[in-house]
Amino acid sequence: MMLGLVILLWISVVFAENLNFCAYHRDNLRRSLSLGSPGPDNLLLPFNGTRIPGSQESIDIQIFIKEFFGEKLSNDWSLEVDSFEEKGYNFTNLVFTPFNGDTFLVLAAHYDTKIEPKGFIGATDSGASCAILLYVAKFLDQILTSDRDLLNPWLLGSNVGLKIVFFDGEEALEYWTAEDSIYGSKHLAEKWKNQGLLDRIDLFVLLDLLGSQEQLPVHSYHRSSHAYYEVLSDIERVIAKGRDRSLNPSELQYLMKGPFLDDDHRPFYEAGVSVLHLIPFPFPSVWHKLEDNFENLDETKIQRWAVMMSEFVVKFVNS
Ligand SMILES: [Zn+2]
Repeated sequence: MMLGLVILLWISVVFAENLNFCAYHRDNLRRSLSLGSPGPDNLLLPFNGTRIPGSQESIDIQIFIKEFFGEKLSNDWSLEVDSFEEKGYNFTNLVFTPFNGDTFLVLAAHYDTKIEPKGFIGATDSGASCAILLYVAKFLDQILTSDRDLLNPWLLGSNVGLKIVFFDGEEALEYWTAEDSIYGSKHLAEKWKNQGLLDRIDLFVLLDLLGSQEQLPVHSYHRSSHAYYEVLSDIERVIAKGRDRSLNPSELQYLMKGPFLDDDHRPFYEAGVSVLHLIPFPFPSVWHKLEDNFENLDETKIQRWAVMMSEFVVKFVNS
């Protein structure tokens, strides 16, 4: 009886904690991250195209992202443009910061697409992840506007900043090697290293290959971030209500093995930054094929990740 009461109280506390956010997500999730309803608030459909570094399509999506932060959000999100030229291609990373801090939480995904196969759209690689980050930004912007007390520790004392990063040039220009890959993240990590920023990153969260229709496990790959993986898993458990969970903190084989997936986190990880790599393994079966298109996305999964990441950021700030 006592135990039942405690569980009941715990459940009501968990849901009460999420009540404000539930209303927000109910009002915004579908029109922001829907595959079927184009409109000015849709954050996903603009990524339904190629985004090869330096191309007009790449410039167009950069404009979309910049206009989103500059015009659709209410607060001042400062923009850092990290542009450079390498191997005949122009690359541009975009970094948005709503407020600075002594240390930072970084959320990142790559917006570029592979040159081959021709017409490759990269719906899961990583258009969906970029749209999820835009949703998180919009969610935080709303909290900063009308529920600032929810971010009290962030704004009043803990002095942790946030940066949302859209990397260019993750994909190899030809075949993936350490040299021919992750152009954008290598460049930004070097820049931030020279500015003394790398040492100030509390956690670097990288989203990649999310949103496919397959039910694929996203493992815990890094010991230093496992506690955060558990936090995210707790959030998923509340949202998923027991169905189709991606995270499993008790499955430790990849944690024991050590990180083995190469991605935009590499230069940050090698510099000693704590990394939470949110990527399924095995990869989606459409990976690096033309079939990685919007017909093979699952909007329900994308929406769930958007809610999970939104809640995670608030929990991170309050932890
Ligand atoms: Zn890829």
